Amino acid sequence: MAVNKIPRVGLVSLGCPKALVDSEQIITQLRAEGYEISPSYDDADLVVVNTCGFIDSAVQESLDAIGEALAENGKVIVTGCLGAKKDGDMIREVHPKVLAVTGAHARDEVLNHVHQHLPKPHDPFVDLVPPAGVKLTPKHYAYLKISEGCNHRCTFCIIPSMRGDLVSRPIHDVLKEAENLAKSGVKELLIISQDTSAYGVDVKYKTGFHNGRPVKTRMTELCEELGKLGIWARLHYVYPYPHVDEVIPLMAEGKIVPYLDIPFQHANQRILKLMKRPANSANVLERIKAWRAICPDLTIRSTFIVGFPGETEAEFEELLAFLDEAQLDRVGCFTYSPVDGATANDLPDHVPEDIAEDRKRRFMEKQAAISAARLQAKIGREYTVLVDEIDEEGAVARTYADAPEIDGLVYFDPAPGVKPGDFVQVRITNADEHDLWAEQL
Ligand code: SF4
Repeated sequence: MAVNKIPRVGLVSLGCPKALVDSEQIITQLRAEGYEISPSYDDADLVVVNTCGFIDSAVQESLDAIGEALAENGKVIVTGCLGAKKDGDMIREVHPKVLAVTGAHARDEVLNHVHQHLPKPHDPFVDLVPPAGVKLTPKHYAYLKISEGCNHRCTFCIIPSMRGDLVSRPIHDVLKEAENLAKSGVKELLIISQDTSAYGVDVKYKTGFHNGRPVKTRMTELCEELGKLGIWARLHYVYPYPHVDEVIPLMAEGKIVPYLDIPFQHANQRILKLMKRPANSANVLERIKAWRAICPDLTIRSTFIVGFPGETEAEFEELLAFLDEAQLDRVGCFTYSPVDGATANDLPDHVPEDIAEDRKRRFMEKQAAISAARLQAKIGREYTVLVDEIDEEGAVARTYADAPEIDGLVYFDPAPGVKPGDFVQVRITNADEHDLWAEQL
């Protein structure tokens, strides 16, 4: 390295939004210490690969990315969920040349390894780092991670064994970060964690202080505070605890967006018990009805697993019937994937892959019709949309009902001057089963 050359670190970020937030924190700290972030392998002095280890295909993708970084650059530090597997030995067996391996949420450990292999520059440009940190998302939306880890032990999931039990961030830190993001021009906050509704359970909902006022470390109080920022706040990964009911009135009052990303996973009582999930779908249907009575515009996104070990045809059909009743807006469906280390793998009567795939097809077919009908009902209605992009074909935006990356889009012909990050009023003119078309008002 030339004497005055600023050390440059490349970063490959794989996996879920929680991993993305870890990457942002690593980049923010590197920038704070005066490192530059390089967009290419060639130009980087060292590469950090943030991996995902959730399902087999993600493991393979992560191992491939590490291999590519080693081939193209040679100096590689690995972090993230895959790094936690077998204490990193799994990665070292395939790629013995990696410089270091850490688990997820290990910013300081990663930084220590970077310092060891690529010493810190002497003159850190601390002032160049904005208070909101360095974001990998577009400027107008940002993920806000409120906790790490999870106290549940869903039998299909190994996240608690990789990321540990729930650790909530102090309420003041979360609100300060949210304020800084809003001040830096962010228009939409995506609240993430492994289990958003459990926020504060680990600290017994301790009262903290924000701007001189006492605020409890709790989801409802957090939402009330976020509602004061005047931007969209959207809740992801909400486990269906009873106190989720408390945030619905805040949605009806427009304090946070009326959108719940709430993974139900199944509808049959026996399968839910085997999954170690809350097991009462009749109750869930009642709650959905009650939520919609309070907040008719509520959009519900959920995910389900089909072909869970032992799932019979009758139990699967119960799930299809649940979809008819629940009329959810957006739904993701996965076939059961025997993740290495998940306790559900030991259950008897695994469903053959072809049957599980067929159930997924039938599930998605049913849900596609429900989603399409719900979008059709929006034709003629007026919405505020947040503009994500302007390209040669027009504007690409989203209503409150659509989260970035996972839900649908709204396409319209923008008036001159409209730019990404603007809120614009539109009337919906057309819909398919996923997206909407509109005219600007
Ligand atoms: S609540 Fe989510 S993260 Fe926690 S064990 Fe269940 S699936 Fe895994």
